[in-house]
Amino acid sequence: MRVAIVGAGPAGFYAAGHLIKAGAQVDVLDLLPTPFGLVRAGVAPDHPKIKSVTRVFDKTAAEPGFRFFGNVEVGTAINPDELAAHYDAVIYSFGAATDRRMGIPGEDLPGSHPATDFVAWYNGHPDYAGHEFDLSAERVAVIGNGNVAIDVARMLVLSDKELAATDVADHALAGFRASRVREVLIIGRRGPAQAAFTNPEVLELGELDGADVHVDPSDAELDPLSRAWLDEHGDKTRRVNVQTLAAYAARPSTDAARRIRLRFLSSPVAIHGDGRVESIELERNEIVERDGRLAPRGTGETETIPVDLVFRSIGYRGVAIAGLPFDDARGVIPNEGGRVIDAEGAAVPGVYVAGWIKRGPSGVIGTNKQDAIQTAKALIEDHEAGRLPAPSGDDDALLDLLAARCPDHVTFAGWQAIDEVERAAGEPQGRPRVKLVTRDELTGAARGVAR
Ligand code: NAP
Repeated sequence: MRVAIVGAGPAGFYAAGHLIKAGAQVDVLDLLPTPFGLVRAGVAPDHPKIKSVTRVFDKTAAEPGFRFFGNVEVGTAINPDELAAHYDAVIYSFGAATDRRMGIPGEDLPGSHPATDFVAWYNGHPDYAGHEFDLSAERVAVIGNGNVAIDVARMLVLSDKELAATDVADHALAGFRASRVREVLIIGRRGPAQAAFTNPEVLELGELDGADVHVDPSDAELDPLSRAWLDEHGDKTRRVNVQTLAAYAARPSTDAARRIRLRFLSSPVAIHGDGRVESIELERNEIVERDGRLAPRGTGETETIPVDLVFRSIGYRGVAIAGLPFDDARGVIPNEGGRVIDAEGAAVPGVYVAGWIKRGPSGVIGTNKQDAIQTAKALIEDHEAGRLPAPSGDDDALLDLLAARCPDHVTFAGWQAIDEVERAAGEPQGRPRVKLVTRDELTGAARGVAR
């Protein structure tokens, strides 16, 4: 059985690993010349341990049944019908490439950005390396209470010493070095008991070299509904978050040069400024019970805070590929346990999904393992039951198609050449790597390696 996997992130690699163990031949395709998806382009540079998961993926890549074709855009260079014609089955695991919008006035003013763009920029994603973020800002607002909001806030206050040892992209390192950021506000629309971030991430905010963390005591205090909910249903993550935030509220401030302030029960209602961001208007919320869930409700009380830069970090969102079903409301490809379904709810033979484009942008890297294995098992079951359509083209035809449409595609050996160049550049600086950040640099480093 020959399977194509579109998207070389964790979900794609976990699915590939399972399928190869079951005897399949697997080609993993990616838009980027490099593999590993958000492990390379999303995980914060100061979290190298999280990135060590690539060792598992390297083992999969070393299997004889595995091939990587990077720098290949499915949907433009090759469309889903063409892929279907060359493989027994295709798994789409291309994640969630864009962000959710707040839908408030001023959201598109210069100085207001999706956090996802900023993350891609500091991680050296080639399509974002040229973006500009004005870090002459002194006060920054980060909207949202997820781990991405925490990553962005932390990156904005890391000391030079903390940053210099990482694989942050060189252009971002220069930007952070020149940064004048003094205060970062993390703004949550609900309270401390509903925050989506996880314990290690919020604890880490209290352990930074050159930054204080501050929570107003009135913000750390739970409203009666949240208190009752936490006592009755709260899991460890929520309880420890609440304890940590209460401890921050009790901390005396130090003379650190920078500060992170967590504010709760506040929804942005507008971003103001004459030609660029100058302030953000927040409405105070209260927590109410709605449809069995604790929800924010505006009180009408507003406050305008001067800020120079705004990052909205309210979730990623999947993007459709022409020729595949798409649930626009949820930003996912509709599926049942990984089997893609059409508008009538019928399974589309030979087409599967895994990861964020299957379940939405939630969970940590490890969450993708079970998710991808569920999909791979469904695919194997369909293969064994004879439910996969027979491909019309063979491997030679596929290689001809790739050579014609994507002559600059990068194989896994090509990626290993890139990896070597990056690591060698990082070594004298005591950094894990210095990332190559343009497609030309990346394909150049990969070139000359056997295809
Ligand atoms: P997330 O965890 O889903 O958090 C989104 C946040 O945005 C929530 O606090 C949500 O509040 C808020 N929000 C949504 N709509 C809003 C609006 N209109 N106005 C104000 N706030 C709004 O998303 P994420 O931070 O993008 O993270 C994505 C996934 O990656 C998560 O599973 C995360 O844990 C994971 N991740 C993990 C790490 C790590 O392990 N270190 C690092 C980065 C990301 P409500 O709860 O009120 O909706």
